[in-house]
Amino acid sequence: MAKYLVLLESPSKVEKIKHYLEKNFQEDSFEVLASGGHINRIADSGPWGLGIDLQTMTPTFKIETTKKKNVSEIVKAGKSADKIILASDPDREGEAIAWHLANLFAKDNKEIKRITFNEITESAVVKAFGEMREIDIDLVNAQLSRQMLDKIIGYMVSNSLQKSTGLLSAGRVQTPALKILVDRDKIIKAFVETIYKKIFVMDSKQNVKLFLYKDDNNLVVNDPKNYYISEEQSKVIINNLGEDYKCTKYKAKEFEVRSFKPYSTASLLQDGFSKLRMSAAQITVAAQKLYEAGLVTYIRTDSNRYSSDFVLEAKNFINKNFKGDLFKEAVPVRTQANAQEAHESIRPTDLNQRPENISSQIEDKNMIRLYNLIWWNTVKSLMKGPSGFYHNWTFWNNGYEFKQSWKEVLDLGYNKLDKFETDEDVELDENDDEISNDDEIKPPFEFKENYVFSINKNAIVTEEAKTSPPRMFNQASLVRELKDLGIGRPSTYTPTLSKLKEREYAIPHRGKPFEVTEKGYQAEEFLYNKYEDFFNVNYTAKMEENLDEIAEGKFDYKDWIKTIYEDLNASVKAQIQEAKTSDIKCPRCHEGNLVFIKSKFGRGRGCSNFTTTKCGYREYEQRDGSWLEYVAKPKETK
Ligand SMILES: [Zn+2]
Repeated sequence: MAKYLVLLESPSKVEKIKHYLEKNFQEDSFEVLASGGHINRIADSGPWGLGIDLQTMTPTFKIETTKKKNVSEIVKAGKSADKIILASDPDREGEAIAWHLANLFAKDNKEIKRITFNEITESAVVKAFGEMREIDIDLVNAQLSRQMLDKIIGYMVSNSLQKSTGLLSAGRVQTPALKILVDRDKIIKAFVETIYKKIFVMDSKQNVKLFLYKDDNNLVVNDPKNYYISEEQSKVIINNLGEDYKCTKYKAKEFEVRSFKPYSTASLLQDGFSKLRMSAAQITVAAQKLYEAGLVTYIRTDSNRYSSDFVLEAKNFINKNFKGDLFKEAVPVRTQANAQEAHESIRPTDLNQRPENISSQIEDKNMIRLYNLIWWNTVKSLMKGPSGFYHNWTFWNNGYEFKQSWKEVLDLGYNKLDKFETDEDVELDENDDEISNDDEIKPPFEFKENYVFSINKNAIVTEEAKTSPPRMFNQASLVRELKDLGIGRPSTYTPTLSKLKEREYAIPHRGKPFEVTEKGYQAEEFLYNKYEDFFNVNYTAKMEENLDEIAEGKFDYKDWIKTIYEDLNASVKAQIQEAKTSDIKCPRCHEGNLVFIKSKFGRGRGCSNFTTTKCGYREYEQRDGSWLEYVAKPKETK
């Protein structure tokens, strides 16, 4: 019989895991405690408040005040345990938490082991208990490196930003994300729309809808690379056309729509946002609670695959519960080789827990809606999609080329499911390729080339259209952009979005695109004028790659971080020196200059002449952007 101390992150999992262990290992005794996430953070001591020894690049950690009681309980429980099992979450952050917890017992000479599980279910917990291992120091180093980099870049550049502009914050990932938004906002603001004509040949009864694709010079029309058809030009074109359309090309291509793919953190955030109109923060909180309740697998992951055991289970479930032979393996998605995150997608731990059943056990509406989304996405990702043929015709008329395609649906796949059976709560994204159950009728064309289709010239119609700028990002599309650019990781998406909002750089209106603020513009302008090298997208993406390599034990992080520190130190010092001079004369003493000062009331400026004349002039920025002198209230005399 052994006495175990098992340490978790979240207190809400304690009872459940204790129960599973006691039930399955009756010989042993278990004490289960939770750290409540991180127990410590890097101290704010030393140069720049970094808390890092700049020779050895070693951080000094300080126990969080709020965790002191927790930590002493853990240490006390450890004294009487034979073995200590570290069961924090299965990612780099969890590995680092395990390492910090192990350090609490450094002097005690205890047997300490690490276990991980991807879901809080009896079978997963028991299996993990049989697969104890040592702490993976490479994963720990990757996490420490990320913390140090974030702190070095965040603290030092924010300091400079504050002194030069009075704005508050810059961040390793936050700043490139801000630039993406500012760049797009500039494109949208500078956009000049073009009004143009589209030309069709229409007969809706027969489902004829040919559109003009190329003109008689073989140029694709209404294409930004060529030209847009004006009203005048449309008249000339229509005049040139005859009544005969010769089919010059016909092609049929098989298709199957598989819109549902296994969820990674990024794609869950996207769908939660666009289909449920939930914010990234709401999705993250609800997903974490679902994981802790044992209902879904670990929620920080960049995997897009399911375990083979789960696929087999899902196959049986689908065959038993749905008619029509719908099961099909999920679409394989290319994923980056990455040691960071859990090795499986986000999915229900048990498909038999149907969304309509959990709604009686759970009160939190966001959890219910998100579970519904995850459950249906998982089921549909393992079902055949609507399939059939795309038919494409090209016609020639007096030198002009027209095209039409027709989607012939032969099997509805998961769209066979009755509507009442599925997720009616879900709002469809406008980008979703919806395939309706009503077949479009076949156009009157032959399935071959070199025949002539004739139609009266009255069928030629024009439609007015206008060009539109690219769309502004919303939370979902920004996450996708960060992922595509390689500068986001599952653990950074939500904190990055929160920072942009907190600092009032970009406001994410509910369910709508971001609004980039004046402050956002000012911060971006300064940061990319002065620190472009540290925030350009390629550099940030390369940093993430290096962190991945550290996690695999293939990269020496200390020299790398030291170089970044030294480069940045030189730039920031020079910049801060420059910020001390300003050309705005103090309106009170007319000798000093106004420089940005630290303040709790938004942006503030003060007279630089404080030490010589004790001028003491201060002013603060008002809501409308103007500056107002600060007048101290006279002390009241009693
Ligand atoms: Zn002054």
